[in-house]
Amino acid sequence: MAQRVFLFSEEGADGSREDRELLGGKGANLAEMSRIGLPVPPGFTITTDCCRSFTETGAWPDGLDGDVERGLKHIESKLGSAFGDASEPLLVSVRSGAAVSMPGMMDTVLNLGLNDDVVDGLAKKTDNPRFAYDAYRRFIDMFGNVVVGVPHELFEDVLESMKRDRNVALDVQLKTEDLQDLVGQYKAVYRKRTGYMFPDDPREQLRLAIDAVFRSWDSERARKYRHINAITGLSGTAVNVQAMVFGNMGDDSGTGVCFTRNPNTGQRMLYGEFLVNAQGEDVVAGIRTPKDIEEMKAVMPRAYDELVGVTQRLEDHYQDMQDIEFTVQGPKLFMLQTRSGKRTGPAALKIALDMVDEGVADKETAVRKLVTPGHLDQLLHPSFDDRSEDEESVGKGLPASPGAAVGQVVFSAEDAEAAAQRGEDVILVRIETSPEDVGGMHAAKGILTARGGMTSHAAVVARGWGKPCVAGCGDIVIDYKAQSFTNGRLTIRAGEWISIDGTTGEIIRGQRRLQTPQLSGDFARFMTWVDEFRRLKVRTNADNPSDAQKAIEFGAEGIGLCRTEHMFFEMERINIMRRMILAQSQTERREQLDALLPFQRSDFAGIFEVMAGRPVTIRLLDPPLHEFLPTEPDEQRDVARALGIMPEELAAHVARLHEINPMMGHRGCRLGITYPEITVMQTRAIIEAAVRTHSRGIDVHPEIMVPLVSTVEELARQRKMIVDTAEEVFRAQGKRIDYQIGTMIEIPRAALTADDVASEADFFSFGTNDLTQMTFGFSRDDAGRFLPRYVETELLPADPFQTLDTSGVGQLVRMAGTLGRATKPELKLGICGEHGGDPASVAFCHEIGLDYVSCSPFRVPVARLAAAQSALEEKASEG
Ligand code: PEP
Ligand code: MG
Repeated sequence: MAQRVFLFSEEGADGSREDRELLGGKGANLAEMSRIGLPVPPGFTITTDCCRSFTETGAWPDGLDGDVERGLKHIESKLGSAFGDASEPLLVSVRSGAAVSMPGMMDTVLNLGLNDDVVDGLAKKTDNPRFAYDAYRRFIDMFGNVVVGVPHELFEDVLESMKRDRNVALDVQLKTEDLQDLVGQYKAVYRKRTGYMFPDDPREQLRLAIDAVFRSWDSERARKYRHINAITGLSGTAVNVQAMVFGNMGDDSGTGVCFTRNPNTGQRMLYGEFLVNAQGEDVVAGIRTPKDIEEMKAVMPRAYDELVGVTQRLEDHYQDMQDIEFTVQGPKLFMLQTRSGKRTGPAALKIALDMVDEGVADKETAVRKLVTPGHLDQLLHPSFDDRSEDEESVGKGLPASPGAAVGQVVFSAEDAEAAAQRGEDVILVRIETSPEDVGGMHAAKGILTARGGMTSHAAVVARGWGKPCVAGCGDIVIDYKAQSFTNGRLTIRAGEWISIDGTTGEIIRGQRRLQTPQLSGDFARFMTWVDEFRRLKVRTNADNPSDAQKAIEFGAEGIGLCRTEHMFFEMERINIMRRMILAQSQTERREQLDALLPFQRSDFAGIFEVMAGRPVTIRLLDPPLHEFLPTEPDEQRDVARALGIMPEELAAHVARLHEINPMMGHRGCRLGITYPEITVMQTRAIIEAAVRTHSRGIDVHPEIMVPLVSTVEELARQRKMIVDTAEEVFRAQGKRIDYQIGTMIEIPRAALTADDVASEADFFSFGTNDLTQMTFGFSRDDAGRFLPRYVETELLPADPFQTLDTSGVGQLVRMAGTLGRATKPELKLGICGEHGGDPASVAFCHEIGLDYVSCSPFRVPVARLAAAQSALEEKASEG
C-alpha cells in the first residue's frame, strides 16, 4: 500500500503543497511550510486514502496502527518528549482537513494526551499548574463535544455556575483548585451523557479522535456542505496530528488568526485578531473577544515582527493572499496553518492587481488563481440605493460579508430552506451559526448574527459564498422561542421584512431598494488581462439594443442568440401578431406579416447599430404560437374586443392551437415549414435592416439561425427560402452584404446526424436548454418538481439545466461538433443555452473546441474569466 502517514517538522517534510489530494489542504500546507523552513510544530498527516478505506470498510487500513506509532515517535524525537509520559509530557492536536476546505467536518481537538498523571507532569514541567489544569478541562470539553458529541453547553453550564459560585466574571480569574474541580465535574458530565468513563489512555484518546475525523467525512452536514458547494470526486479527509504549542502559558503567549491582506477590501495589511494567554479555539469560537492584530505590535513586538516576516514569505511563496493561524509560546512564534484566504469580490480584484504591481504574482497567476468567477459575480452584486429619510435603523453589527440583501426574517436554518423552496426571500437571523446551519445560510439572501467576530463561522462561510452578512450585532437580543428579536426599542418578528448591508453592518427595518454596482477601472484593467489568455470568444444572448449595449460594456464580442419572439410581445405588435396567428388564409397571414415587417426591421437595425460590426445571430421564430394568445377568459374577452372578433371565436382558436406537449409540438423550424411566409418576412427584415445599416457606414454581420432542426432536409428547405429572399432584397436594394445561415443543434437527432446537417450550415449553435430537455427527457417546465430531489440525493451531481451534463448531453455536443467539422472544417461552433454562462460548462466548451459561448449580459465577465482560466489550466496541465 502507498504511504499512509506523512511526517513533517521544521527540518523538512515528506509531502508538499502538490499533495493536496492525498494530504488535504491543511496537511499539504503544513508540509510546504515545513519545507521552506517556517516554524511549524512537528507532526504527521494520515492520508485521505486511509479515510476512504475507513469509509468503505469501517476499520483502519492494515498497517495504520504502526504508522501512527511511527508518527508519534517522530514527534517525540523532535521534541525529546513522550506521549502519555508524565515526566516528559507530549500533547497533540488532531485536526481534519480535506483537499477543499470544509466547515461541515470535525475541526479540531486540542491538548490530546492528557490524563490525571500527565496533567501533574505538565504542571511540574511548566511550573504552571493553573495552565495544566486549564488545558485539561478544555481537553475534556473539546474531546467530549467534537469526538463523541456531548453538547458544549453542558460543559459551559458547569463553568458558568462555577464562576457564579466563586463570584468571578472571567475564566482567567478561576484558581487552580477551581480548575481541578472543573475537571472532575466535566468528567461527570461526560460520563452522564455518554455512559462511559472519560478515556484516560492517551493512545485510546488518539484512536478515538482519528476515528471521529474519519467518520465526520461522511456526516450528514459534511455531505450537505459538499453538495451545496458542488464538491465531488474527493476520497476523504486527511487527519493531522501535531505537537501542541501553547498560547496559554502566560502573558507573553497568545494565539491568533489573520489574513495577509484585508479580505473585505484587499488593502495590504495584517488583518485579524489575537488573544493574549489563550488557545486557538478561544478566537475561532468567539468565546472571548479578541484584540485587533495591530495591538500585538505593542504587546509582543518580537513575535509580531517575526509574524510580519513570515506572512511576507508566505505570500511570495504562494503568490496569493494567505489566511493563517499562529500561536506564540514563550516568545516563540509557531505557524499552525496557512491557506489561500477567502475574500470578497472587490478584495480579490484589488489583491490581484496589487500583487501584479508589487511583483508578487504575474498576470497569468492573477487570472488563473486570484479572482474566481464567483468573485466577479459578486462585483456585479447589488447594493442599496441612496438612503431614504424615513428608514428605521434596527442596529449595527460587523460588516462581515459585503453586499446588500432584503428579506423576511426567519430564525432557523430549516425555516430558511423551506421559505427559499417556496421562492421567498429571507434573512436568516441567528445568535450565532454553526456548520449545521449551512443549508439555511445558503438558502437565505443574507445572514445576521448577534454574536461572533469577523472570523466567526457566519462571517467566513458567507464571505466565501459572496452572501451579505452582518455578524456580531450586540445591539439586538434574539429570542428563538418568541420568534422575534429586539433592540430594546423595536421588536422584529418572524416574517417581517428587514434589509441588511454587509458592507456597512447596518440593519434596517423594511424593504430597501437594491441597485446594481458600478464597475471601476480596476475591473476593466483586470478583464484586459483575462482576454490575453482566453481562446473561446464570448457573445451574449440579447434581443434589444439596450441589453446588447450593456453586454458590450461587459465585453461581449457579438450576439450569439437574439430570440425574435420577444420582439412580438410589445404593445402595438402583439395584436398584429395575433391576427397573423388567427389568419384563415395565406394572403391574410401575409398582410399581417407585412405589418410586422417594419417593426422587426427597425429592431434589427437598432441591434446592428449597437453591435457595430460584431456578429449578430438572429434566430427565426421558435415558440409554439399559442404562447401569443391569452388563456384566461377575462383576458380573452379583452383581446377579442381589440381584435374585433367574438370571444367564443378566439376561444375556439385557442382550443385549436392547444397541444398536449407543446415543447415537442408545432414550434421551431416546423413553423417556418408550415408557414413559409414567416421565414420570408423575418429574413427580409433582417437583410433589409442589414443593408440599410451598412449603407449608413456601419459594418454588419448577420447570422440567420434556424431553430429546432432534426433533419438536414428541414434545414435545406429553410435555407433555400432564406437565400431566395435575401437575393430578392439584394436585387431590390442594388446592394449585397455578407451573411451566414446556420442552425441550432438542440434535438438529439440533429446531433446524431450532424455530418449531414453541416452540409447546409455555416455554423452550429448548441441550444443546450432544449438539448438537455430532449436528451434526459426532462421537461424544462416541469422538472422543478423532482430535479431538486435528484440533486439533493446525489442522483445527479448538479441540475443539468444549470451545469452542462458533460457525460451525457455534453457528449452529444462534442460528437456533433466533430461530425460537423468532418463535413465542413471551417464550421463555426457555439453554445447559446444557459450553460454558456456557467463556469464549469464554459470549461467543457473550451475543452471540446467550440469557438464561442453566449450568455446573458451580466454573465459575460464570468464567462470571459472562465474561458481564460480553462485555457490556463490546459496550459498548466500540458506542463
Ligand atoms: C436552447 O434551447 O438552449 C435555447 C437557447 O433556446 P431556448 O431556450 O429559447 O429554447
Ligand atoms: Mg431551444
